[in-house]
Amino acid sequence: MAEEIDVIDISLTTCNCERDLVIKQSIIDKAPFDMLKIDDPSILNTFEGREICGGCYKSRKFFCYTCCVPVIDKKYFPQVKLPIKIDIIKHPKEIDGKSTAIHAMLLAPQDVKIYTYPDFPEFAKDDKFVLQAALEWL
Ligand SMILES: [Zn+2]
Repeated sequence: MAEEIDVIDISLTTCNCERDLVIKQSIIDKAPFDMLKIDDPSILNTFEGREICGGCYKSRKFFCYTCCVPVIDKKYFPQVKLPIKIDIIKHPKEIDGKSTAIHAMLLAPQDVKIYTYPDFPEFAKDDKFVLQAALEWL
């Protein structure tokens, strides 16, 4: 069971002052996880060895980063519904086993899709989107 943590209201919608935003962001940056409610991860230490992925038959621990599926019971992978759809376009040289994009897809499989450049999502003319580039790409 996660420990309850007092939550500081950092709502950006109630703040119109850029200076306040900078101060609030600096507080978040110093301890970004302090306001999150995180379950005890010690259960993960009870898993020994690796499992064979049912999709690609490769040996994996916890999840398959190739097939983007858990290889242990799904109950250990909470799923969330995101308020937006996320398309992640990975660099072709990014190593799948090191990519954090997989984690997003495991936690929100209905809302996250992963593409490897030059594969690219298709957008309709009227779609609205936010582009966030990894610094390594710039
Ligand atoms: Zn697999």
